[in-house]
Formats: sequence, structure tokens, C-alpha cells
Amino acid sequence: MKLCDAHTHYHFPALAPRWAEIWPVARQAGVSAAVVNGTCEADWPDVAAFVRQHPWARPAYGIHPWQAPRRGAGWEQDLSDRLAADSRASVGEIGLDAWVEGHDLADQTTLLLRQWEVARDHQRPVTVHCVRAWEPLRQALRRMPPYLPGFLIHAYNGPPEWIPWFVEKGAYFSFPPYFLLERKRPQRDAFRLMPPERILIETDAPELSPPPEHNPHHLTDIQDGRPLNHPANLLVALHSLAGTLDREAGDVATLTTQNWERLFAPSGEDNGSR
Ligand SMILES: [Zn+2]
Repeated sequence: MKLCDAHTHYHFPALAPRWAEIWPVARQAGVSAAVVNGTCEADWPDVAAFVRQHPWARPAYGIHPWQAPRRGAGWEQDLSDRLAADSRASVGEIGLDAWVEGHDLADQTTLLLRQWEVARDHQRPVTVHCVRAWEPLRQALRRMPPYLPGFLIHAYNGPPEWIPWFVEKGAYFSFPPYFLLERKRPQRDAFRLMPPERILIETDAPELSPPPEHNPHHLTDIQDGRPLNHPANLLVALHSLAGTLDREAGDVATLTTQNWERLFAPSGEDNGSR
């Protein structure tokens, strides 16, 4: 079974130095491709280094809303240069977050839209993070025509009734193992309302572990002992999504792989520019 992870941070210091130990387990679980998302200019070189070493992974460069206040003056040129240098690169993780302390939604929105413009200039897909800011996200995207390269709303936890609106705009949605938490049942059920051709699976590894009773891979941070989400938990997401959709896991693996390839690896792209 071939599984494609729509959203990861494999380059984070908690995972990357231990990759030789982690990868055989993830490979065994079926992981065969992934998008590795940067979160700020400072970690973009780590993303680039990771995908250079592991060509089955694709880079995404973006400034996460948590990092918005710390962006430097040259980020826009840096982002544009990185997209120009690698035709496999997308834009992410970008978005809006009204949960994080000290957030400034107006500034986050400005940054979101400027990053989206760079993505549009290069015709690349976008990965969006949204926490407690669904109405502001809709406002930000309202004037935009449907975005043809497509965009991923990772770990979608917005209002179920807005799914058709986001689909119309070009949205895909990814299902994380974190949604196995019992209180996340409404978020799981929302995936039944989505067009099957817009659904992907993700881990967000090393962030957002599944609950312990659904976590077969106990991985902890060497530095501080906190639990980490193992990349092999993509298989946990697959089985939970298959159960939610009442479909065979093999069918859902094929479906989500096709969707991943359509969004992140459209045919006819130039793979040789890196
Ligand atoms: Zn993330």
C-alpha cells in the first residue's frame, strides 16, 4: 500500500537527526511520499536540506501565523527564489490563528495574502493552517477567484456547512491521526461531506500525536521527553478515515494517493530543475 503524507515537518530537530531510526518504520507502514512544510525563513534551509537528501519528499516554504511577528524584511524574495529554484516546491504552512497568544489577525491576513500572491505568481499549491479564524479566512479568500493550482486546508476543523464554499475555491482537506481523539468526532464526520477527490491524509509529524490508545509508535523527544507523532502514524490516519467513510482501507489509500499526486505533483511538471 502506497501512502502519501499531505502535511509534515520532518525537518524539525526532534525528527531529522533520528531519521535513520524512524524511516524504516514509516516505510514499513507504507509511507512513500510527503510534503515537508517550513514555518519561518530560519527553517527553510532545513526543509531544502531534507528534501535534497530524500527526493521522495517535496518541500513547502511558508511563514506560519505563529511566526508572523518575527518575519524579516527579505522574506518575499527568499520565498520567490526558493519556488523558482525548485519546481516541486509549494507554499506552506501559512494561515490564520486566533488561538495563539498575542495574535494580530489583521497582520496575519496581510501576510497570508502576500504569500498567496507569491504562490500564484509561480502557480504552486498552498497549504493553509486555520485555528479559530474561519470567518476571517473566508473574508480573506472571498474576493479571490477559484485557485486553480489548488490548496490544502490541513486538519480541517471548520464549520461543516462551509465545506462546499471552500471546495468551490479549490480546497483539498487532510485527515490527521489526531482526529482519533473522542472529542474530535464531529471533525471526523465532516470528512463524509467532502467530495472524495478532495480528501488526503496527513500526520503533521512530529506534532499532534493521536491519543495513546490509538498510537502504536511511542516516540518521545530526546531533549524534553514530550510525546512526538511518528511519521508511521499516517497508517493510523488512513484506517480511521476509511472507517469514517465506510470504505476499504486499500481503496482509501489509492484515492488519497491520487489526490496527493493531483495537488502536489501534477503531471507535466519539470522535475529536473533542482
Ligand atoms: Zn503543521
